[in-house]
Amino acid sequence: MSNIYGYPLEELEQYFLEHDSKKFHALQVFDWLYIKRVKSFSEMSNIKKEMLENLENDFTMEPLKIVDVQEDVDVSKYLFELYDGEHIEAVLMRHDYGTSICVSSQVGCNMGCKFCESGRRKKVRNLETYEMVLQILMIEELIETRISHVVVMGIGEPFDNYDNLIRFFQIINHPKGLAIGARHITVSTCGIVPKILEFSNFPLQINLAVSLHAPNNEIRDQIMPINHAYKIEEVIDALKVYLSKTNRRLTFEYILLKDINDSEECALELAHLVKDLNCYINLIPYNETNNIDFKRTNTIQIMRFYDILKKNDINVTIRREFGGKISAACGQLRSKKEEL
Ligand code: SAH
Repeated sequence: MSNIYGYPLEELEQYFLEHDSKKFHALQVFDWLYIKRVKSFSEMSNIKKEMLENLENDFTMEPLKIVDVQEDVDVSKYLFELYDGEHIEAVLMRHDYGTSICVSSQVGCNMGCKFCESGRRKKVRNLETYEMVLQILMIEELIETRISHVVVMGIGEPFDNYDNLIRFFQIINHPKGLAIGARHITVSTCGIVPKILEFSNFPLQINLAVSLHAPNNEIRDQIMPINHAYKIEEVIDALKVYLSKTNRRLTFEYILLKDINDSEECALELAHLVKDLNCYINLIPYNETNNIDFKRTNTIQIMRFYDILKKNDINVTIRREFGGKISAACGQLRSKKEEL
């Protein structure tokens, strides 16, 4: 049976039309689910009894299970159990401007980035749309606060689950859905070129972040296997299409890994690579994991890297670090739980 939280408004409208009913009921259902937050179909009092029976027969409202919560000062991490016993995680961060949540898009990940915990387990399956929506909905209910910003940067490669991702955006962005503004939503990809091109035609103004992590193919090949499929130049070309079609600014994420991609030459090469793009670079201090091959660049070297980019007129920020204590870096909580 399908979970109702995975249906964008248009698909629910279609459902009602197919059942010889009126499509405005779809909006009423959205209102019950996302504004009033009822827990059963029987509470949807403005929908006729026969239609409610149809809904009950065709859909479930089954939530996910939250099986672990870890708290740090400005960050909480939630471990969810899915219907098939798999686990995913979401991280909540409290900022001065609001509350953001980092959601997962797959169980496991096939991208195999060498420094990332999530990739230690191969992709088991894509998350269903409802499993992404419910990460937000359930945490909002638990903390009794509205979440203002969403980043799809948890476990998985969102562009490897493109169709469900798009439906997720449609639901959470809809004014009668979770009503999270498109400009408050960010999706991060390791650089799947055909999907970047497809995304450049998507009408909602959702932010795009690209995990670059290297200024050239030689280094990127070593740390990100996806670079064998799509070279840096191809990614940049796709991003030029994205920028010209959307007129937006994009973010590059760049994890600083000691002695791998953090030299001054790397900074110069990076500045050169992105100088003609409307973008900014988010430098990410590496969150050390059990993986002994990668160490964190020290703060002085991070600042040096930052300064070089600045001097070359690149918009650059250093990511604030959250959750060192509670192993909030990608995939760490889940991999602990499963003792990989
Ligand atoms: N697959 C997508 C989204 C998930 S990863 C992507 O690659 O963009 C989200 C971000 O966290 C990526 O930039 C990823 O490279 C980064 N990341 C992974 N492990 C990290 C770690 N240990 N410390 C800091 N950032 C990490």
